Amino acid sequence: MSFIHIQEVIPRDGFQIERNFVPTDKKINLINELSDCGLSKIEVTSFVSPKAVPNLKDAEEVVTSIKRNPDVTNVALIANVRGAERAIAAHIDEINLVMSASATHNKKNVNRTHEESLAGFNEIMSRVHGTGIKVNGSVATSFGCPFEGEIAENAVQHFIDKYISMGMDSITLADTTGMANPVQVKRLVEKVIDQIGDVPLTLHFHNTRGMGLANVVAAIEAGATRFDSSLGGIGGCPFAPGATGNLCTEDLVHMLHEMGLETKVNLDKLIELSKGLPELLGRNDIPGQIVKAGKVTDLHKT
Ligand code: ZN
Repeated sequence: MSFIHIQEVIPRDGFQIERNFVPTDKKINLINELSDCGLSKIEVTSFVSPKAVPNLKDAEEVVTSIKRNPDVTNVALIANVRGAERAIAAHIDEINLVMSASATHNKKNVNRTHEESLAGFNEIMSRVHGTGIKVNGSVATSFGCPFEGEIAENAVQHFIDKYISMGMDSITLADTTGMANPVQVKRLVEKVIDQIGDVPLTLHFHNTRGMGLANVVAAIEAGATRFDSSLGGIGGCPFAPGATGNLCTEDLVHMLHEMGLETKVNLDKLIELSKGLPELLGRNDIPGQIVKAGKVTDLHKT
């Protein structure tokens, strides 16, 4: 039976675009609860400018206050050297660096050319060197760009080569605006696994157009074992028009368990945590489906 790693992103990818600020103590509580759920990684925050992302202005306090479960890798997204310095000072386990395969999306997302992004990553890698902090390199818009359309597979593979040669420890392919389809996913994931061998590969799918879980199955068929997802399906990319909808963690785990795959994740606990989201976020339109429908095994009384 295959083991699938589940990597939670709600504290960063989810909360960054919420209308209301999620209070710091509530963020810390949720992360502490999530770290007891059997997840492999949690993206706990981002060390970015509080002006750019006001909802994550409490990054230091979150990282230094959360319970550190040795089985869980706590990750922070970093945009520049200043962010890396803050992450190092806060003793994060891993930093995540993101560049879009699409030049246009990269310019709109981080206001940099590919060359500028890669030069920045080189500088960050030299700061991180020797700290014991791991680095994950993400290629956003790997499966399509809302501005440029199709993204060449060899462009994605070219950036992965750059990441590996800089010494990054793991790679993420992100379908930033939910454009991937299962046939495309299987083809690209097979190629990338051939390319990077034992280097861990994560897939970050969005359910923007309802293809998220189908893409997970296709990626597993191609050999992938690590997936990002967000409790309740909260969040998405704030810089792409109409692109809400991270893959929902409890829907993902429910499907994997029904398929007989192992995750170590406590699904019932996740569902309970997801049920707390309307109160936490002050809204009722939570995308997750299992919380609404119940599990397949929740039989109705006859
Ligand atoms: Zn996302």
